[in-house]
Amino acid sequence: MSRFIHPKFNALSPYTPGEQPRGRSYVKLNTNECPYPPAPGVIQAACEEAGRLNLYSDPTCKQAVDALAAAYGVQPDEVFVGNGSDEVLTLIFAALCPNGVAYADVTYSFYPVLADLCALPVAVVPLRESFALVPEDYVQLGRTIVIANPNAPTGMVLPVSDIEKILRWNPENLVVVDEAYVDFGAESAVSLIKRYDNLMVVGTFSKSRAMAGARFGYAVANRALIADLGRIKYSFNPYNVNRMTLAAAAAALADTEYFDTCRGKIINTRARSLQTLRDMGFDATESMANFVFISHPTMPAETIFYRLREAGILVRWWNKPRISNHLRVTIGTDEEMDALFAALQKILANE
Ligand SMILES: *Cc1c(COP(=O)(O)O)cnc(C)c1O
Repeated sequence: MSRFIHPKFNALSPYTPGEQPRGRSYVKLNTNECPYPPAPGVIQAACEEAGRLNLYSDPTCKQAVDALAAAYGVQPDEVFVGNGSDEVLTLIFAALCPNGVAYADVTYSFYPVLADLCALPVAVVPLRESFALVPEDYVQLGRTIVIANPNAPTGMVLPVSDIEKILRWNPENLVVVDEAYVDFGAESAVSLIKRYDNLMVVGTFSKSRAMAGARFGYAVANRALIADLGRIKYSFNPYNVNRMTLAAAAAALADTEYFDTCRGKIINTRARSLQTLRDMGFDATESMANFVFISHPTMPAETIFYRLREAGILVRWWNKPRISNHLRVTIGTDEEMDALFAALQKILANE
């Protein structure tokens, strides 16, 4: 740290992204990217827009906002778009958590980092023993509630009826539902925004739309909440989404067939992977995301993590309470998963 940093950041512990290796080619199952390329129309749209990079992007992001509004059956003024959903979450933490924030003990590890950055009081609500989130635990918290649904890194889903309970029980607090993984088999809460003015749904094109490198995320909520995000954005980074990404996002929404094919493949590979891993003796949560969350009854997750790494396969392991004996494994192609199973067979055979 330099001597010029503001002292309020002295104790900040930043988010640690999964490794993005260069050089040695790994089977990369550690950051929940889509193993398939973006749709052909997405590549074409981004390339065409590249010739206009001399001009600022549209600060209203109209092309992408309109396409998202049409796709979700809402009005354009009920949609906000950002530079990845991490940016959208940052604006929410900065502006829409006046009394602090509440989230689960086991959830997306970016939430504590943002709470720290924004110096927010935090209520950590432990998941139950089985990693289940119970709506009854979300009452009288008096702060903005943030729920990843499906949750990360467990992949477990809260039914929309449970989200609705939490909305009803907390009318004076904003409830943010982070749906980064919703397209892999769960139900979206977007339809509830008409009835609940305390709901904000956040999404991303990083996982199910194969656009992690484009950085595109969004929020859907009633127009007053969306206007609030706009006020903050125009005070921070008015041209927050670049031209190529805006064009690419609209093109991604236009190709519903490619989208359905890709997520269908991942859902099928997930089912086969869960079966294979359970046959090998692993415990696995009921994941509805593009990853599985597993632990082995005899071999520690840390050991498996490092041995997989030596074998050229990257997965995610956290040295954190409750989950230090678990691994999160992104669903790759069938060939990538076969490579994982073969490596795991070897590792477990040498136990
Ligand atoms: C990946 C992820 C995000 C971040 O997505 P970006 O749009 O790439 O910033 C947000 N929330 C959860 C739960 C995620 O897993």
